[in-house]
Order: sequence, then structure tokens, then C-alpha cells
Amino acid sequence: MMGQQAGAQDQLFYSFGLETHIPSDHILRSIDRFLHLGALRQHLSSFYSHTGRPSIDPELMIRMLIIGYCFGIRSERRLCQEVHLNLAYRWFCRLNLDDAVPEHSTFSKNRHGRFRASATFRWLFDEVVRSCMAAGLVKGEGFAVDASVVAADASRQRGVPSSQAVDWKDPRLSTRAVREYLEALDAESLAQALPKNISLTDPQSRWTAAPGGPAFYAYSTNYLVDAEHGVILDVQATPAHRTAEVESAKTMMDRVEERFQITPVRLIGDTAYGTAAMLAWMVDHKGIEPHVPVWERWQRNDDTLPSSEFRWSEQADEYRCPQGHPLRREWRAFKNPRTHITKADTIIYRSSQSDCATCPLKERCCAKHRLVRSCAASMRPRAT
Ligand code: SF4
Repeated sequence: MMGQQAGAQDQLFYSFGLETHIPSDHILRSIDRFLHLGALRQHLSSFYSHTGRPSIDPELMIRMLIIGYCFGIRSERRLCQEVHLNLAYRWFCRLNLDDAVPEHSTFSKNRHGRFRASATFRWLFDEVVRSCMAAGLVKGEGFAVDASVVAADASRQRGVPSSQAVDWKDPRLSTRAVREYLEALDAESLAQALPKNISLTDPQSRWTAAPGGPAFYAYSTNYLVDAEHGVILDVQATPAHRTAEVESAKTMMDRVEERFQITPVRLIGDTAYGTAAMLAWMVDHKGIEPHVPVWERWQRNDDTLPSSEFRWSEQADEYRCPQGHPLRREWRAFKNPRTHITKADTIIYRSSQSDCATCPLKERCCAKHRLVRSCAASMRPRAT
């Protein structure tokens, strides 16, 4: 017999406890068990006034934001709706059934204002790492570093070539992203490497060519991971650019050392981290064993002679090309001795023009009269 639902939801009083309605294996219960926000108020105390109306509890906002991150709710407006309707979310946020959910604009204000100024998210991240360390999940012996590309919220169409002059004072471009870009322009890393195109919406994002797809504006999230249990020890966002990613690895290593007093024995990374300068930083500066493939920029896929064909002689301080001719940093004695170290921290070894003029390998030779040797590490040379 077909049943029919009775009742018209007209019951006036209910006996209801949120606690009993959240399954014991719900992911939010697992997170709640390890989330300790007791010190959050103290961390933020200097960023709140001592007078006036009480604010929204910062712990409530952080808990709501954790729900947003865990369940992929990117819109703050939708997050407020979801917390309003979902019993598990209410339970996690310590809200009763009839408690009001904060306005979505409250999040924007706090995220870009108070939480950013007080580095609350960094504080929270570090607290979680400390919990992992206390639970014995961080061995600290081997770290791994890598980066993932994240598409920026910027249209491909709304950009200009970096060679084109842009009037950033134009009121139409007066956005938070543009203001932050202008503030960061002084930073060396941004000023040094200009991308091909600049987004007018988010100029700090980087024009990136994805393999097999059209280029787009993007950022990189860089992770430093403890290799034992895969616990992320540090995160750093950078424009999607290899140099910035490599620099962020150094920043993260230094920060982990400073905050948690951990220096790993070895660092694992891909070829992007195998530049001479980065390897020298690991070995000479930090005493870390690199488990990183060397970035073999001199390897060729064509018929060109690779520079690995050039033999290095430490004693003579010169290279010998496949034809047996020397490449030297200087071909005559100077009155005042010179190191010949360039601003890029390299030494250029040159061949003799007369040797090369009649050389049968001239067309295939990568050296073109000179090899550049990095002073940063005892790396093989790269041809220019
Ligand atoms: S071109 Fe010059 S450097 Fe290259 S193999 Fe010939 S002699 Fe040696």
C-alpha cells in the first residue's frame, strides 16, 4: 500500500540536539578533534578595539573558512548559506539551530584586513604543523619541495604585452590586486623578470604556457613536505615562474628552520631546483644533501656538440674542446690580476678565434668561442 507522509510540520516544540545528529565518522568530527583554536583570541587581541560592540567571534569565522576550504566552497556568500542550512557545518562552527550566521561581507573585511595584517592564517598553519610534530608525524630528516600551478581569476583577454606602457593610476585599474602589484614592484624578483603579457585584472599573476594548451594567467603554490608522512610544513604562493618557485623553496626552508628548528639532512626536488645557484645554496650554505637532478641546460637535442664534450682541467683552470684547443678565462697577463667573475656570478672561458676559424666542427660547436661556468657550484659549464 502506498504510504503518505503525515504531518504538516506544525509541531511547536522539538527536542533536538545537534551532537546526536552528526555521524561519528563525519570528516568534520575528525578535524574538530585536532583543531585547537584556544590561543586564537590572544593572537588577535591587539587587532580588536577594547570598546564598542562585540565583533563576530574570530574563531567562528575561522571555522567557517575551514569548512569552505575543506568542501571547496569558494564563494563567501554561498558559504554563509551552506553553514546556515547544514547541520554538520553548524555543529562544527559551534552554532545552535537558531544562531545567526555572519554576513558574507564580514569575511571579506576580515580576510583582507585584520586576518591578513595579523598573519592569522600563517599562525593557524603553524599551529597545525606543531600539532603534527607533537603527534610524531614529522621526522625532519628529508624534505620534498614542489609547486603546483593554480589558474588566476583573470581573463586571458584582459591583458597587455609587458612592453606596452600601462597607466596604473587609471581609476578603472584601481583594484586591490593592482595596488598590491604596485607595492610589490619594488621587490627585486618582480622587477627582474618581466613576463610576456601582464594581466590588467591581476598583474601579479604570471602568463604561463600550459603543456598542450593555451597560455593563461596563473600562480604557483609551493609546498615543503616532510617526506616521512607527507606533512606539509610550509606553503608559499608565488607567480607561476620557475625563478620565483626556486626562491620560495629557500624562503620556506629558512622559515621552517626558524619556526620549528628543523633543518633536513636531504632535500628532494625536480629539475627546476637543480640550478647551480640552488644546489650551491643547499650544499655550501645549508649543508643539505640535494636529491635533485642537475638542470642540464647545456644538453642538446640537435646535432650540436654538447658542452659536456669540453674537458675541464682544475690544475690549468681551462677547458679543452673536442679538438683539443684550450678555452681560458684570460689569454694574457694583466698588470692587476682579475678574477673575471661576472655580475651573474659566472666566469667566461673563451677559445682562441684563430683555433676556431679553421675548425671542421665549427658549425656544430656549442661553445661559439666561449663557455660560461657558474661560480656558485662546481657544476659543468653551459654554453652560450
Ligand atoms: S669551434 Fe673552436 S671551440 Fe669549438 S671545437 Fe672547434 S676549435 Fe674547439
